Parts: sequence; structure tokens; C-alpha cells
Amino acid sequence: MTELNTTLIHHPYHPPEGFAAPQPGVFKASTVIFPTVAAMRNFDWKDKSAYTYGLHGTPTTYTLEERLCTLEGGLQCLLAPSGLAAIANVALSLLRCGDEVLIPDNAYGPNKVLAQGELMGWGISHRYYNPMDAQDLAAKIGPQTRLVWLEAAGSVTLEFPDLRQLVRVCKDRGVLCALDNTWGAGLAFAPFDLQPGLSPALGVDISVHALTKYPSGGGDVLMGSVITRDASLHMKLKLTHMRLGTGVGANDAEAVLRALPSMALRYRSHDEATRSLATWCQTRAEFAQVLHPALPDSPGHAHWQALCKQELGGAAGLFSVIFPVQRSQAQVDAFCNALKLFKLGYSWGGPMSLVVPYDLASMRTGWPAHLQQGTLVRFSVGLEAVTDLQSDLQHALESALA
Ligand SMILES: *Cc1c(COP(=O)(O)O)cnc(C)c1O
Repeated sequence: MTELNTTLIHHPYHPPEGFAAPQPGVFKASTVIFPTVAAMRNFDWKDKSAYTYGLHGTPTTYTLEERLCTLEGGLQCLLAPSGLAAIANVALSLLRCGDEVLIPDNAYGPNKVLAQGELMGWGISHRYYNPMDAQDLAAKIGPQTRLVWLEAAGSVTLEFPDLRQLVRVCKDRGVLCALDNTWGAGLAFAPFDLQPGLSPALGVDISVHALTKYPSGGGDVLMGSVITRDASLHMKLKLTHMRLGTGVGANDAEAVLRALPSMALRYRSHDEATRSLATWCQTRAEFAQVLHPALPDSPGHAHWQALCKQELGGAAGLFSVIFPVQRSQAQVDAFCNALKLFKLGYSWGGPMSLVVPYDLASMRTGWPAHLQQGTLVRFSVGLEAVTDLQSDLQHALESALA
């Protein structure tokens, strides 16, 4: 007879065959038990034919990976503990000492900071290109260039590049391109099939997605994904992922699996409210410029129109405004402080609206030619009633800038 504490651990319960609930189970494991020593030696996690260790995958993470492949039109997926970890996974896997990475000047800030920090320290150089000028990208690709980052729309300033043209430049020059697809989320456009009907398809090599944003939807999970359509490229990324040990926990994976079925509805709703608020802001004299790719005079609008779904659900929940130079930083800060529903906070994609004032001059190599001079504030529109959000903006404008 075994001791009580032993039987408590070696419990006999197995879920019954035929328990087909809509939501997948949460399988939590570091250890995975092998039936025999031979199995221990032969099981291989790399092709998902077996489970070997929690870090290498569980039924919960494999299910999430499959669903994200479906969302983005990819074939293989890796999960990382944050969007930034997913970005770092790509860089650390593909770049070696002496290599160069090209990053759009409007990229997600921490991607640039990673290049300035760890990558520089390891002898990997970087240059920034103007994402609104494919010729600039073409001119900057050199013999050491191994990776080009893409982002659509651009971080904070939301200008929309000619993504097809940028990808064509990379293909022509034989350089891998990775898209930060957090804004499009797999819903606004198909990253691996940018021009439907073309054969072979025109698409990025890698799509990185901060699942922290729309897939999670709750503002309560940090996770990222790295999706590909090329098995050997995936394997390269996966070996780095394994060596770094950057797997994700089952509870977090379950939180994303739970939120995915409502993602398209939420994205559409964020989009609708954001277009409405951005259009209203255009009528206000307080702003020198309103940035949102679906607005006809926003930078890159024609590229957005050519690539993205035109109906609601083709643009995310972000827009930015530029206050004219006559406004002091203190006045702009007072406006942000006066907002009650838009909370001061980073990230986006959750139910609560957020606002961040940015020091744009410190974030770009130069002031972009397509932007008015002034002070930029970015809004992330949540799921509150749009009438309440508009009143909040109006009240803050009138109380802080009177
Ligand atoms: C938030 C974000 C990331 C990083 O995601 P985290 O999970 O917060 O690390 C990367 N890219 C873009 C465009 C983002 O908005």
C-alpha cells in the first residue's frame, strides 16, 4: 500500500472520453511523464508529434498556436511571454555579430531600444529607414542587412506605409522581412497574402503579434506570437525560443483562448468608436492634425485604402492628435490630466480607453515631413459608449485649454 501523500499525488482521475466542451482544457505542466526510457529518448517536441516538457508545449499552448495561425494565415507559431519578447526572439535568432537590421523610424519604441542596447553590444548594427519611402529602404539595404522590420500603421504617428512595395523591395533583395502586426491583428489585412490572387502569394516572412493587445482584450495578459509560413525559418526561430526558455504559462494561454472568439467583434467596435472620435476631433479648432489611417487626409491613407478592409473592422482603436506649437507642454499635460474616462496608461486593446502624451521629437530621427509641428497625444479607444468618450474629450478641451 502506498502512503496517503503518495496517492494524493498519483491520483487516478482521468477526464472521461467524449468530454467535448467548447473551451479547451487548461493543461499546466513543467514535467511531462514518459511511458518508457525509450520514449524519453525518442519523443520529439519539434514537430509537435509528442510532449516532452512544459516549456516546449502543452495541449493548451498548441491549441492557441493553431488558432493564431488560422487568424493570421500562417502555418507555424511560437508563443513568447510578451510582444517584446516575440520581437527579441526574431532578432536574436536571425542576427549575428557583423549583421545589420533595418527598422522603420516609426517602429514600436522598444524594438528600437533593443537595437540600441543588446544588439549594438553584440556587434549587430541597425539603421532606421523612412517607412513612407520604399526607395529609402531599397537604398539602405546593404550586404550586411539580414532583417528588415515593418510596421503598419506606424507606432504613435499611425502613418500607413505601402506595405506591398516594402515587402517587394525585401524580396527583390533577398532579405527577410518581419512585420509587427499588432495593429492589424490579422483582421485588417492578411500579412502572408498582401495581394489576394497573386501566385505565389506576396507576404511577409514573419508576423509578430503582441497578443497583449486585441487577442487578450482584457488588459490583463502579456503574450506575443511569432508566425511563419516557412518550416525551416520556423525551426530556426524555435531553436532560439527553446534555448532562451521563453515559453508561456497555461493560464495566460487560456485567457487568450477565451478572448479570441470575441476578438473580431471587439476590434470592429474599437474601430467604429475610434473613427467617430477621430472625425469629431477633426472638427475641433484645438488640433493642428488628427492622425488615423482611415481619415482621407491622414498620411498614407491611400495605402491603407489599398490594403485594408474598407468596412468597419479594417482599422484598429488608435488615433493621435497634434496640438499646435503655440500650446505649451503644460497645457497639453493639463488636457490629459483633465480626461476622466481616458486613463493615463500604456498599452491598448482592452476595454478601457487610454491616453499618452508623447515627446515625438525624441522618438524620431527627424520630425516627419508629413506631420504638423506640435505636441502629440495618442488615444487608445476602449469599449465604453462613444458618446461618453466624446463628452470626456470635449470637457477636457474646454476645461484645460479655455
Ligand atoms: C504593445 C506592443 C508591443 C509589445 O507588446 P508587449 O506584450 O507589451 O511587450 C509590440 N508592438 C506593438 C506595435 C505594440 O503595440
